[in-house]
Amino acid sequence: MNSLRPIIHVVAAVLAIAGFSSSRAGNAGSLEVEVFKGQFATVNSFIVSNGTSLVVIDVLRKTDDARKLVEAIRARKLPLTHVLITHGHTDHFTGMPLFRDEFPDAKIVVASEDIRRDIKVYAIYMDSGGETSAEPALEPALRPKAAGNPGGFDYENTIQVLPGNTLNLEGGGTLELATDYLPAEAHYTTTVYSRDLNALFLSDLGYNKVHHWQGDDISRENIANWRAELIRLKARYAAANPTVYPGHGDIAGMELFDEMVQYIDNYTRITSVAKTRQEAMEKMIELYPDHAEADFFLKYSVENHVRENP
Ligand SMILES: [Zn+2]
Repeated sequence: MNSLRPIIHVVAAVLAIAGFSSSRAGNAGSLEVEVFKGQFATVNSFIVSNGTSLVVIDVLRKTDDARKLVEAIRARKLPLTHVLITHGHTDHFTGMPLFRDEFPDAKIVVASEDIRRDIKVYAIYMDSGGETSAEPALEPALRPKAAGNPGGFDYENTIQVLPGNTLNLEGGGTLELATDYLPAEAHYTTTVYSRDLNALFLSDLGYNKVHHWQGDDISRENIANWRAELIRLKARYAAANPTVYPGHGDIAGMELFDEMVQYIDNYTRITSVAKTRQEAMEKMIELYPDHAEADFFLKYSVENHVRENP
C-alpha cells in the first residue's frame, strides 16, 4: 500500500453470497467502482457507476457466475448502458448472451476490431476441443451464428467496436481505453483508466496472487512481451499512482508490477531448466504457496512450456 494513493473508503463490507464476494469502494470524484469476483478462475468483473448509469467491465466465465453479476447490477436500480469486453478469452466474455437478453438496451462493446475478431475466434477454438480439461466446454449460447446454427451468437452484429479510445458514461464520467500492447496473455487486450477514480483496470495484463495464465498459444516471446508491458505500464502510471484492478485476484497498488515481473522471471527460469513438469510445478508452488489456480493456470502453463521426453 502506498500512502500517496487516495484513501479508498469502503462503503459496503465484503458480501459473501453463495461463495461470491463483492466489495464496493467509494471515491472522491463522481465515479464509483464495485469489484465482482467470479467463482470460477478467480476472474473479476467491475461495475462502474456515476450515480446515474452503469457500465460493466467483463462478464465472467460461467453463466451461473454472470447471473449473480446481473443481480448485483439490478440491485443498483440504475440503467446499464455498456458491457465492455476487454479481450477475447472465455473467462471474460461468457456472460455476453445472458447480458444481451437481460439488458437489451445495453451495448456490448470492445475497443478494437481485433478484439471483436479475437472473441469469435476464441469461442470457435473453445468449441472445437481447444479447452483444457479444467474448464467447462463453451456454453452453447456462444456458438457462432451460421447457416447450420441460425440461433447462434451473432458476434459481428451484437458486439460493437467503440469509435474512439474513450467510453463516456451517460450522465458524466469517462473511461480511457488503451489497446497499444504487444501480444502477451492475449493477442489483444484493453486496459481502462479512470481519472475520477484514479483507477487502472489492467484486464489480464494484471494477476494478483493468482498464477499467470501462460498456457495454450502463449509463447516465450509473449511472456517476454508481457514483462516489457508491465515495465512500460509501471512507468506510464507512476506519477498518477493509481489503484490497480487486475483481471484476476484482489485490488492492488503499483507494487503489483514489480511482483508480476519477478513472477515472470521465476517462471521463465524454472520452466527453462526443469527436467519434468512435476519439478516445475513443485518449484513454482514452493515459491508461491498462496497463489490461486495452481491446478488450472499453472498446470496448463507448465504443460505448455516444459517439454518432457516420451
Ligand atoms: Zn482472464
